[in-house]
Amino acid sequence: MPGVQPLEPGATIGILGGGQLGRMLALAAAKLGLRTHIFTDETNAPAAEVSGNVTCAQFDDLHALTAFAAVVDVVTYEFENVPVAAARHLETLVPVRPGSQALAAGQDRLAEKQFLRSLGIPVAPFAAVDDAAALMPAIVEIGMPSILKTRLLGYDGKGQVRILKNDDLSAAIALANAAPAVLEGFVPFTREISVIAVRGADGAIAYYDCPENTHEKGVLRKSVVPAAVTDAATAEAHRIARTILEALDYVGVLAVEFFHLDAAAPSAPSLIVNEIAPRVHNSGHWTMDACVADQFENHIRAISGWPLGATDRHSDVVMRNLIGADVEGWHALIASDPHLSLHLYGKGEARPGRKMGHVNRLSPKS
Ligand code: AMP
Repeated sequence: MPGVQPLEPGATIGILGGGQLGRMLALAAAKLGLRTHIFTDETNAPAAEVSGNVTCAQFDDLHALTAFAAVVDVVTYEFENVPVAAARHLETLVPVRPGSQALAAGQDRLAEKQFLRSLGIPVAPFAAVDDAAALMPAIVEIGMPSILKTRLLGYDGKGQVRILKNDDLSAAIALANAAPAVLEGFVPFTREISVIAVRGADGAIAYYDCPENTHEKGVLRKSVVPAAVTDAATAEAHRIARTILEALDYVGVLAVEFFHLDAAAPSAPSLIVNEIAPRVHNSGHWTMDACVADQFENHIRAISGWPLGATDRHSDVVMRNLIGADVEGWHALIASDPHLSLHLYGKGEARPGRKMGHVNRLSPKS
């Protein structure tokens, strides 16, 4: 996108979604002298508290979307389940970065895998399961163990059934009856890593170091940087991220989550993409304390047509999520270790599984 006019400080960034990612984007924009306007369908959205302007409306409210477009200079989003139709409507009125094509690619697990495969990027074996009748043929094709995932609206392990034995079939049939799904072969990974990459409006690309991510019940618990992977694996992860960014003519931060296999046969890929997220990502929260320009600042810079900031890491770092009731220990945590950098999202109710905040702990770079 050569020739994009950089936004001037004082310009307004519209953010679709009002969660913690929107909150941290709004804070990063404020640091750069930019205003934000949140469009959310939730009351008491965490991002609304730190943003000068808020529209609370449904994502299919064309009137509200049109009014929103009229008062912002660029639109971005903080969660990938924004309806594609809303992004397409906004695109006719104001620049949307990243564009609706990227949103569509990350939203439907089947389309996502087909897109990645079309780029020659390794993914787990998969088969479409449009309804319960398609389940058994898919299991015959993919085998067990496998995981059935809803195509749409899945995140943090929601909308998934693991099929390890015949007893799991009834839950899988129930899921397949409820919504179109995709069956994935179970990947015997050694570890999970991710790449947070950013592409500017001028096509410049920068990458952060790969974190190693630990999930519990499908939810990210911890990211450790650096990951215990070779430089060659890191370079391959970056190459895959670049291929995706360029294929989508993407502007902004993109996260790519990988399964890493240590003992892959020489001809087998050691990195398999689990999923992509066309947005800032939880496994990039460590950048807030360990880098000159964190993922939020670089996303804002990219979509504003500004030069990207350095992604170098000055320290090793462990990021831990505060999930559900964990947050009740915030005081004891910072009392026990003044070197912990605490980030709380201002959410009211600490429901189980709800991301309430995170802490970053830096240590000297190894
Ligand atoms: P997802 O919501 O698809 O990212 O899945 C949540 C977590 O479940 C992942 O981070 C993995 O730990 C695990 N998982 C998902 N898909 C697979 C797979 N095909 N093979 C092995 N583990 C998986």
